[in-house]
Amino acid sequence: MQFCAVVVAAGTGSRAGGGDAKQWRLLAGKPVVRWSVEALTEAGADPVAVVVPAGDQQIAAAALTGLPIRLVAGGTTRGASVRAGLGALTDGPNVVLVHDAARPLLGADLIERLLDALATADGALPALPVADTLKRLDGPQLSTVSRDGLWRAQTPQAFRRSTLVEAYAAWPPGEEPTDDAGVVERAGGHVVMIPGDPRLLKLTYPEDFIVAEALAAARVTCIGQGFDAHRFGPGEQVWLCGVCIPHDLGLVGHSDADVGLHALVDAILGAIGAGDIGDHFPPTDPRWKGAASHLFLTHAAELARSRGARLANVDVTLICEAPRIKPHREAMRAKLAELLDLPLGRVSVKATTTEGMGFTGRSEGIAAQAVVALDLPAA
Ligand code: MG
Repeated sequence: MQFCAVVVAAGTGSRAGGGDAKQWRLLAGKPVVRWSVEALTEAGADPVAVVVPAGDQQIAAAALTGLPIRLVAGGTTRGASVRAGLGALTDGPNVVLVHDAARPLLGADLIERLLDALATADGALPALPVADTLKRLDGPQLSTVSRDGLWRAQTPQAFRRSTLVEAYAAWPPGEEPTDDAGVVERAGGHVVMIPGDPRLLKLTYPEDFIVAEALAAARVTCIGQGFDAHRFGPGEQVWLCGVCIPHDLGLVGHSDADVGLHALVDAILGAIGAGDIGDHFPPTDPRWKGAASHLFLTHAAELARSRGARLANVDVTLICEAPRIKPHREAMRAKLAELLDLPLGRVSVKATTTEGMGFTGRSEGIAAQAVVALDLPAA
């Protein structure tokens, strides 16, 4: 679904400590505002309006350098800033996400669930149940408030852009909304809740930065597997795991037909959910005719690293009756370690035959399997 976004980063509050307004402070080495703007642009938000204090354009541009955004000067209230952001998106798609920059740890799955929820509603927001018992202090009189039916609203909140613009136009002057769903609710719109995300905490006090730093550092281990096979044809050598081995046959393929590297590329792409080797290097593209497959491997590894991945280990199994792999195994490990910039101990190449069974057993070709483990940012 096509959508645009408003990121509100117009606060000047210093309750969070640290001197600078919290949206410009670093969280795990990256400006707070950049975390959610990156998450939104990676999820496909286009255009993205980032609303910043009028005097902070320069610091904002530095914090968001390289990202395709529209910087907009904010108003004196949150509502005025959201209106200013919407005013910069009149040429955008009719679905908009409005998000507070103070909630940096925005995940792709939450964005997807919000957009899905819009199919049957005018607006959708993530919310969490209230866990603590609520108290009301009325003068000296303390009482307990039922938390039944109470929820904590988060952002981003998703709307049909025209619905939100009309709802803001109808909002009574002099009152200040605390979120955008409230504006659409007041205008009679149908707003639904989806399960929120505890990682989307709002940075308000200095302690919140300590929690967010820990959450930002959290990693999740991902595994990918790949399989490939190429047929034997006339030739005098085969390429396997980046090593050239003399043989009385060659392997047929658009590129150099290195099944070991191809299986490994698919394993890396699998671990980061980025499709397969054919998506990235279509066999119909003349650029890859006869290409050395180490180019595919370094591309996949770079793509993984650009998404914050750290490769843990790789394990490749070559399946053939001939040529004999063992004499070349250490050269293959060294080549893969070099291409992936991994210590040798985290690179494995193994070989097996299928004892005469199947296509590899009949020496019609060579197959390879690969497994990769890596870790990715959890948020
Ligand atoms: Mg292949």
